[in-house]
Amino acid sequence: MLTVRGLRKSFGTTRVLESIDLTVGRGRVLALIGPSGSGKTTILRCLNGLETADGGTITITAAEADPEAAGAAPAGTATSTGTGTELTVDFGAAGGPRDKQLAALRDRSAMVFQNYNLFPHKTVLENVLEGPVVVQRRPKAEVTAEALALLTRVGLADKTDAYPFELSGGQQQRVGIVRALALRPQLLLFDEPTSSLDPELVGDVLRLIKELAIEGWTMVIVTHELEFAREVASEIAFVDGGRIVEHGDPKQVLRHPREERTRQFLHRLL
Ligand code: ATP
Repeated sequence: MLTVRGLRKSFGTTRVLESIDLTVGRGRVLALIGPSGSGKTTILRCLNGLETADGGTITITAAEADPEAAGAAPAGTATSTGTGTELTVDFGAAGGPRDKQLAALRDRSAMVFQNYNLFPHKTVLENVLEGPVVVQRRPKAEVTAEALALLTRVGLADKTDAYPFELSGGQQQRVGIVRALALRPQLLLFDEPTSSLDPELVGDVLRLIKELAIEGWTMVIVTHELEFAREVASEIAFVDGGRIVEHGDPKQVLRHPREERTRQFLHRLL
């Protein structure tokens, strides 16, 4: 479960996130939509510590400590990292959050990037192993077995020794997703995962993300694909000017937006 309270971020004198409040329950999928430059990517980057927020708190509750999870079936393959219970990072604390807390935040989530961000000089398998083995220091044999199973699952069993440049965009993005899953995060973050793909390759990646949603992964997805957001998300937040303008059920936000700014945004897209 993810809880964000009063998250603020500026770049120089430009305030990019005003005061973001969000809650994403365990196994829920939140889609962030909104105009270009509204702050969606910055929210994701703050969530996994790629950017350090200026104020506010981020709390990620591990499955075993999540009251919502009590008595519930395990959420598919979404195993926890076993790194503890509830982690709260307070960016407003005097002197800012400690490095240890930021490292813990990074360890709890994994990001899938718009441009895949694979290491170009590493093979597919090496790309997947890097985080779990080098950063998380898990046993290589165990991670390799898990990585091969995940790559097989996404139809890339025959590409383990290939380099990223030998793969299509859709295949590279599936490696990007496997790389994130191999980190066993409590939270999966997707930053416009299909917007660099040729239209005919989008479907495979969206199907895979839908499967992960059904399995019960907790996810935050920045997307411009409104139809996909409607299908896969449990809730949608419309971001504009560094604020969450509206947050609710996908059908309500997309079909019956309460806020004028949401209406105008959707109107431009239709
Ligand atoms: P898009 O849909 O186009 O990806 P977005 O909603 O994801 O946009 P962000 O990428 O979060 O928007 O950017 C929000 C604002 O912050 C933009 O005005 C952007 O120029 C600015 N910004 C983002 N990163 C930086 C940075 N590292 N340095 C300075 N300004 C930045």
